Amino acid sequence: MRVSEIFRSLQGEGPSTGAPASFVRLQGCTIGCKWCDTRYTWDASRGREVPLPSLLDELESLGPRDLLVITGGEPLQVRGFEELLDSACGNWPRVEVETSGVGGPPMSRPNLFWNWSPKLPAVTPLWEETWAHSSQWMAEPRAIAKIVVGEGDDAEAARLARSLPKDRVWLMPEGVTPEALKRRALALAELCKREGWRMSPRLHVWLWGARRGV
Ligand code: SF4
Repeated sequence: MRVSEIFRSLQGEGPSTGAPASFVRLQGCTIGCKWCDTRYTWDASRGREVPLPSLLDELESLGPRDLLVITGGEPLQVRGFEELLDSACGNWPRVEVETSGVGGPPMSRPNLFWNWSPKLPAVTPLWEETWAHSSQWMAEPRAIAKIVVGEGDDAEAARLARSLPKDRVWLMPEGVTPEALKRRALALAELCKREGWRMSPRLHVWLWGARRGV
């Protein structure tokens, strides 16, 4: 399968924020979010081809086998993703996947958790494709919705988030600098307090800024 990068860090987003984790970023994505900070993953022919057994060995060499985060790119669009998921769930105590949800969850396991991140209309023409499977995502007990909200998108985010169960919604500020994140987060905090949603930070940006491999 095609891999963009592998690294050890802290989970920066969603319910496991702050947990030490090993990451694999898969190569390839057609969603085209306007603020995407991993555009280097879009071209499915870039990155490097890694056989699954070698990929698992590399991931285990990074550190303790605690939390494995599979991100992208768009993992659901990467050939070999389901085989990776199956092996990862057999080898790691907890696996999390970051996805736009352009398809439904391909499998369910007791140690497999999904950070489904559907997009807003202002972000990509494909936003409806990422919401089309929302009932499947919400039927998966270990999936949460993590909605990234940029400047001017609060009303649309609120409209769509109200269609989901309140306790499954995380709003996350868009931004690639600590200053931009704080500004957005302060506005989203008011929305979260009013509506009863949670807020996800972007801990890695706060700690290290817009760098690769963190
Ligand atoms: S789905 Fe993720 S990787 Fe793809 S364009 Fe959007 S933010 Fe970037």
